[in-house]
Amino acid sequence: MPVEDIPPTIEILINIDGIPISKSSGDQFWPILGKIGNGRNQKLIFVAEAQELEQNGFSFKGKHYQFKLSAFACDTPARSFILNIKGHTGYFGCPKCIQQGDYEGRVVFLERNAPLRTNESFRNRIHEDHHNGDSILELLDLDMALDFPVDPMHLVDLGVCRKLLLTWIRGPLERRLPKNLVEIISARLELLRDYIPREFARLSRSLKFIDRWKATEFGLFVSYIGPVVLAGILSSRLFNNFLVLHVAVRILSSNKYCVDQNEYARKLLNLFVSECERIYGSYFIYFNVHCLIHLCDDVLRFGSLPNFSAYPFENYLQSLKKLLRKSNQALQQVIKRLMERFHIDEVSPKTCYDKRQYRLKLQHDSGPLLPNMIRSSKQYKELHFGPWYLSCKIPNNCVYLKDSSVILIENIVSNETGDFICGRRYRQLNNIYD
Ligand SMILES: [Zn+2]
Repeated sequence: MPVEDIPPTIEILINIDGIPISKSSGDQFWPILGKIGNGRNQKLIFVAEAQELEQNGFSFKGKHYQFKLSAFACDTPARSFILNIKGHTGYFGCPKCIQQGDYEGRVVFLERNAPLRTNESFRNRIHEDHHNGDSILELLDLDMALDFPVDPMHLVDLGVCRKLLLTWIRGPLERRLPKNLVEIISARLELLRDYIPREFARLSRSLKFIDRWKATEFGLFVSYIGPVVLAGILSSRLFNNFLVLHVAVRILSSNKYCVDQNEYARKLLNLFVSECERIYGSYFIYFNVHCLIHLCDDVLRFGSLPNFSAYPFENYLQSLKKLLRKSNQALQQVIKRLMERFHIDEVSPKTCYDKRQYRLKLQHDSGPLLPNMIRSSKQYKELHFGPWYLSCKIPNNCVYLKDSSVILIENIVSNETGDFICGRRYRQLNNIYD
């Protein structure tokens, strides 16, 4: 990024999470990671100079910059730990609203309109039962209520989506789906593998493997393929309830709609939670399900869900873990490897991309060409731009255009008049939400 494009205040999203470094000892490594703004690639080990930086800022290439920690994206145990508050299983554990949970075999939070916590109520210990003690983070210029969003990866994907699926597979008998229906869901998930584009980190897998599903597989389910896989399987009441969650998550994940349609998403999530209580019982309204009602406020403060999700940190933690060759002296090893890597990164080409700059790959001459296309056209199988990729082959050949049409790409053509994508347009489209 050119120096003149750097904003005057550098905002950093922080993540704190543990990774196990040795199976035998149970030892964990807890790096504190920071991500600059919405940057895709900037991650660094963050040390406790935040207070100094916040007060004095810093200089870079002759220009002075302010420094601000924008938010902490952590899972629930890590957040309770750094805020020194009651955990998610505690009666006063909701970090967003003031209510005493009920005990229904576990702590549940049934109020949906409880008063919200504020920076003042936190710092003045108005609700003592919420706190275990002081938090070192109170030394910083942070809003102790608002700057700690509920992380969407743990809340929605690993939390609520996983809980729904587990309830349908192995929940209480009266909520469980018959075995043959579970097998149909699994068969559909396996069938869809061939149609998941390369941009998704993982393909869908049978429910047989649900205990090994990663967060991104639950994310794929709740945001994309759930409505297709569950259609005709769940009763209409359960199916509609799932759709309500799915639509709300899609709205809140979209930069375009997350603010404009925020109120609508809020109504949907409230409806989802109240309907869950009626369908699955109050036992179901545990921490994660309850916290859905706070998600829209976090979106208004931090932008769409990917902006404050732990996903990029999770990926980075995995790459840090790979740097460890032995389980002792973990910190020293990681720092050494990272210093080597930073040195290499300095000379590697820029990772920025411009979507107008694409590359055509895999030349061929097997057509098809449109009748008006000149014979001297060059033909290609693939088009690459930045991290994205289009191809003439399933599953990367399906494109949704701005005019709402859907085409399947059959050829990519380049000649002196320009570059073209040839494909077939679907004549009949149905709206899944109808
Ligand atoms: Zn709450």
